[in-house]
Amino acid sequence: MHCPFCRYSDSRVVDSRTSDDGLTIRRRRQCPQCGQRFSTLETSSLVVAKRSGVTEPFSRDKIVSGVRKACQGRPVSDDDLAVLAQRVEEALRASGSAELDSQEVGLAILGPLRELDEVAYLRFASVYQNFESLDDFEAAVNLLRADRERVAQQQQTATDD
Ligand SMILES: [Zn+2]
Repeated sequence: MHCPFCRYSDSRVVDSRTSDDGLTIRRRRQCPQCGQRFSTLETSSLVVAKRSGVTEPFSRDKIVSGVRKACQGRPVSDDDLAVLAQRVEEALRASGSAELDSQEVGLAILGPLRELDEVAYLRFASVYQNFESLDDFEAAVNLLRADRERVAQQQQTATDD
């Protein structure tokens, strides 16, 4: 952060305040060189780089609207979608990187969506992973079945004990 007055390449933070929406941090800074104070507005939100190279702030609303289409006609409520978007955001933040690409966001959606509704998951995955044929669907369905059987077996073993 360069000082806007003398272009000195360092500054000291004297105060930090997070905005009400939690998306930006306003910092008061002081230049150790000329002593001038200035404010910076920094975004604490995640940034998503789209395929076009354009970046935009991560938005839970975008996750919800992206997933909603896949959930049409499924027993998924707005609350379910809100929780899903929150889980996606938490997973992405936990990854520790401030800039993500849309692929990573799509990947982070798949897990929670699958737990929410398998049909919606298949629809979403078919678009996101570019399913091209019935074979792709079959492979995805087989994976779901295999996982389900594994879980069932684990539950079986648990009750055997
Ligand atoms: Zn300065």
